[in-house]
Order: sequence, then C-alpha cells, then structure tokens
Amino acid sequence: MILILESDIDKQGPKYLSLIDYLSKLPAIQIRTHEEHGTQQVLTEIYLVGDTGALVTDDMQALPGVERVVRISREYRVLGRHKDDKRSTHFEYNGVLFSQDNLNVFAGLCAVDNPEHVEMMLRALRDNSQVCTRMGAYKPRSSPYAFQGHGKACLPYTFELAGKYGIKVIAMEVTHESHVDEIRNALDTTGSPTGVMLQIGTRNTQNFELLKAVGRQNEFPVLLKRGFGITLHESLNASEYLASEGNRKVIFGLRGMKTHHDDPHRNFVDFALVPAIKRLTRMPVCIDPSHSVGNRDRDPDGILDLFHVTAQAVVAGANMILVDFHPAPRQALVDGPQALLLAELPYFLEDVRIARGAYEARKKLRRDQPA
Ligand code: PEP
Ligand code: MN
Repeated sequence: MILILESDIDKQGPKYLSLIDYLSKLPAIQIRTHEEHGTQQVLTEIYLVGDTGALVTDDMQALPGVERVVRISREYRVLGRHKDDKRSTHFEYNGVLFSQDNLNVFAGLCAVDNPEHVEMMLRALRDNSQVCTRMGAYKPRSSPYAFQGHGKACLPYTFELAGKYGIKVIAMEVTHESHVDEIRNALDTTGSPTGVMLQIGTRNTQNFELLKAVGRQNEFPVLLKRGFGITLHESLNASEYLASEGNRKVIFGLRGMKTHHDDPHRNFVDFALVPAIKRLTRMPVCIDPSHSVGNRDRDPDGILDLFHVTAQAVVAGANMILVDFHPAPRQALVDGPQALLLAELPYFLEDVRIARGAYEARKKLRRDQPA
C-alpha cells in the first residue's frame, strides 16, 4: 500500500510526526519513505510493506497528512501501474520530457570511433531539429578481442561537441558503476554542455549490483534494456531494482529477444509488447530497431525492415526510439551493417512522424467509441 502525502508536507510538523508514529506502531508492517523533488513541489510517498491485507483503505485515507491511498494490486511496487493509481508517468531531464504520452528519437552512433564522425552525426541531428542522441563509449562485446569502446577518453570531446550542436541528452551505456563517475567527472570538467541518460544493456539487465549502484544516484535517468533471454517479468523487476534504490527516472527498452528463430533478423522483434508494458507500468517505453533487426534488408517496396519495425512500434504508442546511424558505416568499429545513413535521417524522421500521426488518430478513434 502506498500513502501519498499532501505536497510539501513539513517533515518536522505535528501532522507528519503523528502519522509516522501511528504507522510505525502497526504490527508486521515496515515503512519506507520516498521523496520526489519536482520543479514546483516535493511529493512524499510512504510505502507500507508487509501484512497490509488487514488495513482499511478509508482508515488510512483519513490519517493526518494523507492525500491518497494506492493499494498495490500487482508487482512492480514503485514503477507499476496500480488500480486507481494516478501517479505521473513522466519526468523531465535537462529540458527534455519523457513520458508515456510523447515520443523522443535518439539517433546516433552505436560506438564513438573518432571526433570527426561524432561531429558529422551531431551536425546532422542539429540540422534535423533533434536534441537527443546515442553515443556508445563503453561497449559490451561478445568477443574479448573486439573493440571495447574508447571509454572515458572519448567523453570530453563527445560532450563538448554535443553542447556545440545543442544536444540535451545522450544515451550512453555503462557496464560498471565506475563509468557513472567517469561520466560525471567528464561532464564537470567540460562544464556540463549536455546531459546523459545511462543505459543498462541487455547483457546486464540482471547485474543486480550494477542496477543498485545506478539506482542509488538520482542525477542521471536510466534506460534499462530488456534482457534478451529472460522473461518480461524478470526484466520489469530489474527496472524495479533501480526504482527501489531511489531512481524513478527509468525508461524500459525493447531490443529483441535471442531465439533460434532469429533469422532473418538478428533478434526476434518484440515490439508488440509496447502497449503491454504501458499497461503494467508507468515507464515510458523505448524500442531499439537496430539491435533487433540488425541488418539493412528491404521489402519489395524498398522499405527497410528497420523502418517497418520502428513504424509498427510507434503506431502502437512507443515513447522513445534508440537507433544506430553512422556517417560511414563501412568504417564503423561496431555494428556498421545495421547503421542508417545520415542522408536517411530526414526520411526516417518523416516516417516516424507519419506513424505517430496514425497512433494519435487511433487514440482519438478509441476515445470516440462507447466505453
Ligand atoms: C547498444 O544499444 O549499443 C547495445 C549494445 O544494445 P543491447 O544491450 O540491446 O545489445
Ligand atoms: Mn550495437
């Protein structure tokens, strides 16, 4: 059960103190407090964990300082969408809004290779009015002999160039908690010209110590990719690890599943789950067509599978697209064969816009129907 308190409640005041006193005397119940600092106000939520079955909602609602009571009917206590749960489904980071109701595109390099390619990518984004990108510095590779990413060495120029081209958020994978400090230090030394969304890759979805460490910091939002060989439930619980440590700025990413049915795509595309994740949780849902499809094959009309799966997810309400581009894919050190070309960026964005329009029209059609 969650007690949502009156906003800006005084933690030293009699209302709050008598509430805590009452709750702490409830038998077999532990209490956990979470504060959400918004731009206008501080929201306090008290999680009651344990034997809550006997608690009467109306009694709890009547306690001093309590505005609303949410009964947790399912799993995913913090990020789940519970019955009568009107908690928000959005957050803002560095001026960019992330929510279940909008869409952000993160086109960029799978891996940073050199400053020239970073600059070409960022210039193309700026020229197409984009403020988000992806840039991999720490690459988890299947082979220890493959390029592992330039790591912290490439952060200063990547951040400076991002600032130069007006990029507000860079999605960047971290594979170890020390990478978070390296990113923070590089932002500090370059004067924070941009923001970073930490990415937990599919190979680390159940790296619980990494999840806890990343969840303990509140500075950077987190994109958690679904584990490629585990159940959806397990992956959603992984996002709950982040949130239960305190960081609720979490986006859930679909990137295809490893199966023996993967041909002709690199992974089995799982974007049909977009609406299901929005129903089960309050997280914005990201899709990664590049790591799902893994190639540049086309249908008989000439449309890339990459475009098709993206459009399919957007028509179903996806909120973020993480997609690989490269100015010279043949020279890319990672995942060149799946990269879109810079010349394809305006076409890709227009295709996304058409699909989003279809989603909006479908939502309106539903609203116009009898319940
Ligand atoms: C990536 O986005 O660069 C990546 C490695 O993705 P995933 O973790 O989904 O394989
Ligand atoms: Mn990749």
